[in-house]
Amino acid sequence: MALDNSQQTFGQFGGRYVPEPLEDVLADLADEYDRVKDDDEFQAELDELLRDFAGRPTPLYHASRLSEKYGAKIYLKREDLMHGGAHKLNNALGQALMAKHAGKERLIAETGAGQHGTATAIVGALTGLETEIYQGKKDVERQQMNAFRMEQMGATLNEVTRGGAGLADAVDAALEDLIENFDNTHYLVGSVVGPDPWPRMVRDFQSVIGEEAREQILEQEGALPDAAVACVGGGSNAMGLFHPFYDDEEVDFHGAEAAGKGLDSGQHAAPLSSGKEEVYQGMRTRVIDDDVEVHSVAAGLDYPGVGPEHANYSETDRCSYHGVVDEDALEAFQDLCEYEGIVPALESSHAVALAKQVAEDMDEDDVLLVNLSGRGDKDVEKIANEYLA
Ligand SMILES: *Cc1c(COP(=O)(O)O)cnc(C)c1O
Repeated sequence: MALDNSQQTFGQFGGRYVPEPLEDVLADLADEYDRVKDDDEFQAELDELLRDFAGRPTPLYHASRLSEKYGAKIYLKREDLMHGGAHKLNNALGQALMAKHAGKERLIAETGAGQHGTATAIVGALTGLETEIYQGKKDVERQQMNAFRMEQMGATLNEVTRGGAGLADAVDAALEDLIENFDNTHYLVGSVVGPDPWPRMVRDFQSVIGEEAREQILEQEGALPDAAVACVGGGSNAMGLFHPFYDDEEVDFHGAEAAGKGLDSGQHAAPLSSGKEEVYQGMRTRVIDDDVEVHSVAAGLDYPGVGPEHANYSETDRCSYHGVVDEDALEAFQDLCEYEGIVPALESSHAVALAKQVAEDMDEDDVLLVNLSGRGDKDVEKIANEYLA
Protein backbone atom coordinates (compact mmCIF):
# COMPACT_ATOMS: atom_id res chain seq x y z
CA MET A 1 0.00 0.00 0.00
CA ALA A 2 1.28 3.45 -0.82
CA LEU A 3 2.03 5.46 2.27
CA ASP A 4 1.00 9.06 2.62
CA ASN A 5 4.28 10.46 3.85
CA SER A 6 2.96 13.92 4.58
CA GLN A 7 0.79 12.42 7.32
CA GLN A 8 3.38 10.08 8.66
CA THR A 9 6.25 12.46 8.99
CA PHE A 10 7.09 15.81 10.50
CA GLY A 11 9.90 17.16 8.30
CA GLN A 12 12.57 14.48 8.46
CA PHE A 13 11.14 13.03 11.70
CA GLY A 14 8.47 10.50 12.55
CA GLY A 15 7.57 7.71 10.15
CA ARG A 16 6.80 4.08 10.78
CA TYR A 17 9.96 2.08 11.44
CA VAL A 18 8.59 -1.28 12.50
CA PRO A 19 9.15 -4.98 11.85
CA GLU A 20 7.01 -6.46 9.10
CA PRO A 21 4.25 -8.03 11.20
CA LEU A 22 3.43 -4.61 12.61
CA GLU A 23 3.22 -2.76 9.30
CA ASP A 24 -0.27 -3.95 8.44
CA VAL A 25 -1.48 -3.56 12.02
CA LEU A 26 -0.42 0.10 12.03
CA ALA A 27 -1.84 0.74 8.58
CA ASP A 28 -5.19 -0.57 9.83
CA LEU A 29 -4.95 1.55 12.96
CA ALA A 30 -4.20 4.63 10.84
CA ASP A 31 -7.24 3.89 8.66
CA GLU A 32 -9.43 3.46 11.71
CA TYR A 33 -8.16 6.73 13.14
CA ASP A 34 -8.77 8.58 9.88
CA ARG A 35 -12.32 7.26 9.97
CA VAL A 36 -13.21 8.34 13.52
CA LYS A 37 -11.38 11.67 13.23
CA ASP A 38 -14.04 13.02 10.92
CA ASP A 39 -16.96 11.11 12.38
CA ASP A 40 -19.37 13.48 14.12
CA GLU A 41 -20.99 10.74 16.17
CA PHE A 42 -17.65 9.55 17.53
CA GLN A 43 -16.57 13.10 18.36
CA ALA A 44 -19.87 13.84 20.10
CA GLU A 45 -19.52 10.71 22.22
CA LEU A 46 -15.94 11.65 23.11
CA ASP A 47 -16.91 15.24 23.94
CA GLU A 48 -19.62 13.99 26.26
CA LEU A 49 -17.19 11.74 28.13
CA LEU A 50 -14.63 14.54 28.35
CA ARG A 51 -17.29 16.74 29.88
CA ASP A 52 -19.26 14.41 32.16
CA PHE A 53 -16.63 11.86 33.10
CA ALA A 54 -13.34 13.75 32.92
CA GLY A 55 -14.53 17.20 34.00
CA ARG A 56 -13.77 19.34 30.96
CA PRO A 57 -13.42 22.13 30.17
CA THR A 58 -10.65 22.69 32.68
CA PRO A 59 -10.36 26.30 33.90
CA LEU A 60 -7.89 28.87 32.65
CA TYR A 61 -6.74 30.65 35.77
CA HIS A 62 -4.98 34.00 36.05
CA ALA A 63 -2.35 33.36 38.73
CA SER A 64 -2.04 36.92 39.98
CA ARG A 65 0.38 36.44 42.85
CA LEU A 66 2.72 34.26 40.79
CA SER A 67 2.43 36.83 37.98
CA GLU A 68 3.58 39.55 40.32
CA LYS A 69 6.51 37.47 41.51
CA TYR A 70 7.65 36.35 38.04
CA GLY A 71 6.97 39.61 36.18
CA ALA A 72 4.49 38.64 33.42
CA LYS A 73 0.76 38.03 33.30
CA ILE A 74 0.60 34.28 33.87
CA TYR A 75 -2.39 32.10 33.07
CA LEU A 76 -2.44 28.46 34.14
CA LYS A 77 -4.33 25.87 32.09
CA ARG A 78 -5.59 23.64 34.87
CA GLU A 79 -5.17 20.09 33.56
CA ASP A 80 -4.38 19.20 37.17
CA LEU A 81 -8.10 19.50 37.88
CA MET A 82 -9.11 16.82 35.46
CA HIS A 83 -10.19 13.34 36.62
CA GLY A 84 -7.09 11.28 37.28
CA GLY A 85 -5.13 14.40 38.15
CA ALA A 86 -3.41 14.98 34.81
CA HIS A 87 -3.91 15.48 31.08
CA LYS A 88 -3.28 11.81 30.31
CA LEU A 89 -6.97 10.90 30.39
CA ASN A 90 -7.74 13.07 27.30
CA ASN A 91 -5.75 10.67 25.17
CA ALA A 92 -6.71 7.50 27.01
CA LEU A 93 -10.41 8.27 26.53
CA GLY A 94 -9.97 8.97 22.83
CA GLN A 95 -8.06 5.78 22.10
CA ALA A 96 -10.26 3.56 24.27
CA LEU A 97 -13.39 4.82 22.57
CA MET A 98 -11.78 4.25 19.21
CA ALA A 99 -10.80 0.70 20.20
CA LYS A 100 -14.35 0.02 21.27
CA HIS A 101 -15.76 1.35 17.99
CA ALA A 102 -13.31 -0.86 16.10
CA GLY A 103 -14.65 -3.91 17.95
CA LYS A 104 -11.50 -4.55 20.00
CA GLU A 105 -11.87 -6.46 23.26
CA ARG A 106 -8.58 -5.72 24.98
CA LEU A 107 -6.52 -2.67 25.84
CA ILE A 108 -2.84 -2.97 26.57
CA ALA A 109 -0.44 -0.25 27.64
CA GLU A 110 3.02 0.17 29.01
CA THR A 111 3.76 2.43 31.89
CA GLY A 112 6.85 3.76 33.61
CA ALA A 113 5.89 5.57 36.77
CA GLY A 114 2.33 4.28 36.50
CA GLN A 115 0.50 7.48 35.54
CA HIS A 116 -0.36 6.31 32.04
CA GLY A 117 -1.13 2.81 33.34
CA THR A 118 -3.58 4.36 35.76
CA ALA A 119 -5.25 6.44 33.02
CA THR A 120 -5.56 3.28 30.93
CA ALA A 121 -7.03 1.33 33.85
CA ILE A 122 -9.59 4.11 34.29
CA VAL A 123 -10.76 3.91 30.68
CA GLY A 124 -10.64 0.12 30.80
CA ALA A 125 -13.12 0.16 33.68
CA LEU A 126 -15.20 2.84 31.96
CA THR A 127 -15.52 0.97 28.66
CA GLY A 128 -15.53 -2.55 30.07
CA LEU A 129 -12.61 -3.54 27.87
CA GLU A 130 -10.21 -6.09 29.34
CA THR A 131 -7.05 -4.21 30.32
CA GLU A 132 -3.47 -5.35 30.75
CA ILE A 133 -0.63 -3.08 31.76
CA TYR A 134 3.06 -3.84 31.28
CA GLN A 135 5.34 -2.26 33.83
CA GLY A 136 8.99 -2.96 34.61
CA LYS A 137 9.43 -4.82 37.90
CA LYS A 138 11.65 -2.02 39.20
CA ASP A 139 8.96 0.55 38.53
CA VAL A 140 6.20 -1.57 40.09
CA GLU A 141 8.21 -1.71 43.29
CA ARG A 142 8.84 2.04 43.27
CA GLN A 143 5.19 2.88 42.52
CA GLN A 144 3.13 0.69 44.85
CA MET A 145 0.26 3.17 45.01
CA ASN A 146 -0.31 3.22 41.25
CA ALA A 147 0.02 -0.58 41.07
CA PHE A 148 -2.69 -0.87 43.70
CA ARG A 149 -4.97 1.61 41.91
CA MET A 150 -4.61 -0.14 38.55
CA GLU A 151 -5.50 -3.50 40.06
CA GLN A 152 -8.44 -2.08 42.01
CA MET A 153 -9.86 -0.79 38.74
CA GLY A 154 -9.70 -4.29 37.31
CA ALA A 155 -6.56 -4.07 35.19
CA THR A 156 -4.05 -6.90 35.13
CA LEU A 157 -0.57 -5.69 35.91
CA ASN A 158 2.19 -7.63 34.18
CA GLU A 159 5.56 -7.17 35.84
CA VAL A 160 8.30 -7.17 33.23
CA THR A 161 11.54 -8.70 34.48
CA ARG A 162 13.57 -8.94 31.28
CA GLY A 163 16.46 -6.61 30.41
CA GLY A 164 16.70 -3.72 32.78
CA ALA A 165 13.11 -4.31 34.05
CA GLY A 166 12.23 -0.70 33.15
CA LEU A 167 10.06 1.28 30.75
CA ALA A 168 11.88 0.28 27.53
CA ASP A 169 11.43 -3.42 28.42
CA ALA A 170 7.75 -2.84 29.14
CA VAL A 171 7.38 -1.27 25.66
CA ASP A 172 8.97 -4.36 24.07
CA ALA A 173 6.62 -6.66 25.98
CA ALA A 174 3.57 -4.61 24.93
CA LEU A 175 4.66 -4.64 21.26
CA GLU A 176 5.04 -8.42 21.35
CA ASP A 177 1.57 -8.72 22.82
CA LEU A 178 0.21 -6.50 20.03
CA ILE A 179 1.87 -8.56 17.29
CA GLU A 180 0.35 -11.72 18.76
CA ASN A 181 -3.12 -10.35 19.54
CA PHE A 182 -3.77 -7.45 17.16
CA ASP A 183 -7.10 -8.94 16.05
CA ASN A 184 -8.77 -8.14 19.35
CA THR A 185 -6.26 -5.80 21.03
CA HIS A 186 -5.52 -2.08 20.96
CA TYR A 187 -2.18 -0.79 22.22
CA LEU A 188 -2.95 2.47 24.01
CA VAL A 189 0.27 4.49 23.63
CA GLY A 190 0.56 7.24 26.24
CA SER A 191 2.33 10.10 24.48
CA VAL A 192 3.07 11.59 21.04
CA VAL A 193 5.71 8.95 20.42
CA GLY A 194 6.23 5.71 18.52
CA PRO A 195 5.46 4.92 14.89
CA ASP A 196 2.66 6.58 12.92
CA PRO A 197 -0.25 7.01 13.61
CA TRP A 198 0.33 7.51 17.35
CA PRO A 199 2.18 10.85 17.30
CA ARG A 200 -0.57 12.61 15.32
CA MET A 201 -3.41 10.67 16.94
CA VAL A 202 -2.30 11.43 20.50
CA ARG A 203 -1.63 15.05 19.50
CA ASP A 204 -5.16 15.39 18.19
CA PHE A 205 -6.71 13.83 21.29
CA GLN A 206 -4.67 16.19 23.49
CA SER A 207 -5.42 19.27 21.36
CA VAL A 208 -8.55 19.82 23.40
CA ILE A 209 -6.17 21.54 25.86
CA GLY A 210 -5.04 24.20 23.38
CA GLU A 211 -8.45 24.57 21.76
CA GLU A 212 -10.04 25.38 25.10
CA ALA A 213 -7.14 27.58 26.19
CA ARG A 214 -7.29 29.55 22.95
CA GLU A 215 -10.98 30.28 23.40
CA GLN A 216 -10.57 31.04 27.11
CA ILE A 217 -7.67 33.45 26.69
CA LEU A 218 -9.47 35.28 23.89
CA GLU A 219 -12.44 35.64 26.19
CA GLN A 220 -10.47 36.71 29.26
CA GLU A 221 -7.77 38.85 27.60
CA GLY A 222 -9.34 39.73 24.28
CA ALA A 223 -6.09 38.70 22.62
CA LEU A 224 -3.82 35.73 22.03
CA PRO A 225 -1.02 35.12 24.54
CA ASP A 226 2.50 36.33 23.80
CA ALA A 227 3.93 32.95 24.67
CA ALA A 228 2.91 29.41 25.65
CA VAL A 229 4.95 27.14 27.92
CA ALA A 230 4.70 23.42 28.68
CA CYS A 231 6.90 20.60 29.93
CA VAL A 232 8.05 17.94 27.48
CA GLY A 233 8.50 14.30 28.38
CA GLY A 234 7.25 12.40 25.36
CA GLY A 235 5.60 15.70 24.56
CA SER A 236 1.84 15.12 24.60
CA ASN A 237 0.67 17.85 26.97
CA ALA A 238 2.94 20.35 25.20
CA MET A 239 1.75 19.32 21.74
CA GLY A 240 -1.85 19.45 22.96
CA LEU A 241 -1.36 23.02 24.09
CA PHE A 242 0.75 24.22 21.15
CA HIS A 243 -0.92 22.60 18.15
CA PRO A 244 -4.05 24.81 18.06
CA PHE A 245 -1.78 27.89 18.16
CA TYR A 246 0.59 26.60 15.46
CA ASP A 247 -0.51 29.10 12.83
CA ASP A 248 -0.56 32.01 15.29
CA GLU A 249 3.02 32.99 14.62
CA GLU A 250 2.90 35.79 17.19
CA VAL A 251 2.57 33.18 19.93
CA ASP A 252 6.06 31.97 20.94
CA PHE A 253 6.35 28.36 22.09
CA HIS A 254 8.69 27.28 24.86
CA GLY A 255 9.18 23.63 25.86
CA ALA A 256 10.75 22.61 29.17
CA GLU A 257 12.84 19.46 28.93
CA ALA A 258 14.22 17.75 32.01
CA ALA A 259 17.88 18.72 32.34
CA GLY A 260 18.06 16.50 35.44
CA LYS A 261 21.30 17.14 37.29
CA GLY A 262 22.52 19.41 34.46
CA LEU A 263 23.05 19.05 30.70
CA ASP A 264 26.76 18.29 31.33
CA SER A 265 26.16 15.93 34.26
CA GLY A 266 25.56 12.79 32.22
CA GLN A 267 22.15 12.45 33.92
CA HIS A 268 19.27 14.11 32.15
CA ALA A 269 16.32 13.57 29.80
CA ALA A 270 16.77 16.46 27.35
CA PRO A 271 17.27 15.05 23.83
CA LEU A 272 16.41 18.33 22.11
CA SER A 273 18.86 20.41 24.13
CA SER A 274 21.56 17.74 24.08
CA GLY A 275 21.22 14.57 22.04
CA LYS A 276 21.28 13.03 18.58
CA GLU A 277 18.96 12.06 15.75
CA GLU A 278 18.09 8.36 15.66
CA VAL A 279 15.45 5.78 14.84
CA TYR A 280 14.04 4.81 18.21
CA GLN A 281 10.91 2.85 19.16
CA GLY A 282 9.56 2.95 15.62
CA MET A 283 10.09 6.65 14.89
CA ARG A 284 12.90 8.91 13.64
CA THR A 285 13.45 11.44 16.37
CA ARG A 286 16.00 12.78 18.81
CA VAL A 287 17.28 10.79 21.79
CA ILE A 288 19.82 11.45 24.51
CA ASP A 289 23.44 10.38 23.86
CA ASP A 290 24.51 6.80 24.64
CA ASP A 291 26.70 7.81 27.57
CA VAL A 292 23.90 9.76 29.25
CA GLU A 293 21.85 8.05 31.93
CA VAL A 294 18.17 9.00 31.62
CA HIS A 295 17.16 10.91 34.74
CA SER A 296 14.67 13.45 35.99
CA VAL A 297 13.25 14.20 39.40
CA ALA A 298 9.89 13.98 37.58
CA ALA A 299 9.09 10.36 36.71
CA GLY A 300 6.91 11.41 33.76
CA LEU A 301 9.80 13.25 32.09
CA ASP A 302 12.23 10.38 32.57
CA TYR A 303 12.20 9.29 28.89
CA PRO A 304 15.29 9.10 26.61
CA GLY A 305 13.48 10.21 23.44
CA VAL A 306 10.86 12.76 22.45
CA GLY A 307 7.91 12.89 20.07
CA PRO A 308 8.97 13.42 16.43
CA GLU A 309 6.81 16.51 15.96
CA HIS A 310 8.76 18.23 18.72
CA ALA A 311 12.00 17.25 16.98
CA ASN A 312 10.60 19.03 13.94
CA TYR A 313 9.41 22.07 15.93
CA SER A 314 12.97 22.30 17.24
CA GLU A 315 14.56 21.84 13.81
CA THR A 316 12.33 24.52 12.27
CA ASP A 317 12.57 26.87 15.27
CA ARG A 318 8.80 26.96 15.80
CA CYS A 319 9.45 26.18 19.47
CA SER A 320 12.50 26.81 21.61
CA TYR A 321 13.39 24.06 24.06
CA HIS A 322 15.18 24.69 27.30
CA GLY A 323 16.64 22.29 29.84
CA VAL A 324 15.27 22.77 33.36
CA VAL A 325 17.34 21.18 36.13
CA ASP A 326 15.78 19.24 39.03
CA GLU A 327 16.64 21.97 41.50
CA ASP A 328 14.85 24.71 39.55
CA ALA A 329 11.77 22.50 39.15
CA LEU A 330 11.67 21.93 42.91
CA GLU A 331 11.93 25.68 43.51
CA ALA A 332 9.04 26.29 41.10
CA PHE A 333 7.05 23.57 42.87
CA GLN A 334 7.39 25.53 46.10
CA ASP A 335 6.61 28.85 44.42
CA LEU A 336 3.29 27.55 43.12
CA CYS A 337 2.42 26.03 46.49
CA GLU A 338 3.25 29.21 48.40
CA TYR A 339 1.96 31.86 46.02
CA GLU A 340 -1.14 30.17 44.62
CA GLY A 341 -2.11 27.31 46.92
CA ILE A 342 -1.68 24.83 44.08
CA VAL A 343 0.46 21.70 44.50
CA PRO A 344 1.73 20.92 40.98
CA ALA A 345 3.14 17.67 39.63
CA LEU A 346 6.92 17.69 39.41
CA GLU A 347 6.59 17.42 35.62
CA SER A 348 4.44 20.55 35.51
CA SER A 349 6.87 22.28 37.87
CA HIS A 350 9.38 22.20 35.01
CA ALA A 351 6.96 24.32 32.96
CA VAL A 352 6.52 26.74 35.86
CA ALA A 353 10.31 27.01 36.24
CA LEU A 354 10.63 27.79 32.54
CA ALA A 355 7.80 30.33 32.80
CA LYS A 356 9.92 32.15 35.38
CA GLN A 357 12.85 32.32 32.93
CA VAL A 358 10.68 33.40 30.00
CA ALA A 359 8.95 36.06 32.11
CA GLU A 360 12.31 37.69 32.83
CA ASP A 361 12.36 38.97 29.25
CA MET A 362 8.73 40.09 29.29
CA ASP A 363 6.81 43.13 30.48
CA GLU A 364 4.39 42.74 33.34
CA ASP A 365 1.38 42.98 31.04
CA ASP A 366 2.72 40.46 28.51
CA VAL A 367 0.60 37.31 28.63
CA LEU A 368 2.18 33.94 29.32
CA LEU A 369 0.10 30.76 29.03
CA VAL A 370 1.43 27.85 31.08
CA ASN A 371 0.14 24.29 30.90
CA LEU A 372 -0.24 22.85 34.38
CA SER A 373 -0.26 19.25 33.17
CA GLY A 374 -0.99 17.57 36.53
CA ARG A 375 -1.36 17.80 40.26
CA GLY A 376 1.38 16.93 42.71
CA ASP A 377 -0.24 14.61 45.22
CA LYS A 378 1.71 11.70 43.73
CA ASP A 379 4.98 13.54 44.38
CA VAL A 380 4.65 14.99 47.87
CA GLU A 381 6.04 11.94 49.69
CA LYS A 382 9.13 11.85 47.49
CA ILE A 383 9.71 15.56 47.86
CA ALA A 384 9.25 15.45 51.63
CA ASN A 385 11.56 12.45 52.08
CA GLU A 386 14.28 13.07 49.54
CA TYR A 387 14.51 16.80 49.05
CA LEU A 388 13.17 18.67 52.03
CA ALA A 389 14.36 16.23 54.71
C1 LIG B 1 3.14 11.87 32.00
C2 LIG B 1 3.15 13.27 32.41
C3 LIG B 1 3.89 14.26 31.71
C4 LIG B 1 4.80 13.94 30.55
O1 LIG B 1 4.19 13.44 29.42
P1 LIG B 1 3.99 14.30 28.08
O2 LIG B 1 3.60 13.29 27.08
O3 LIG B 1 5.30 14.95 27.78
O4 LIG B 1 2.94 15.28 28.35
C5 LIG B 1 3.79 15.58 32.12
N1 LIG B 1 3.03 15.93 33.18
C6 LIG B 1 2.33 15.02 33.89
C7 LIG B 1 1.52 15.48 35.05
C8 LIG B 1 2.36 13.68 33.53
O5 LIG B 1 1.66 12.77 34.25
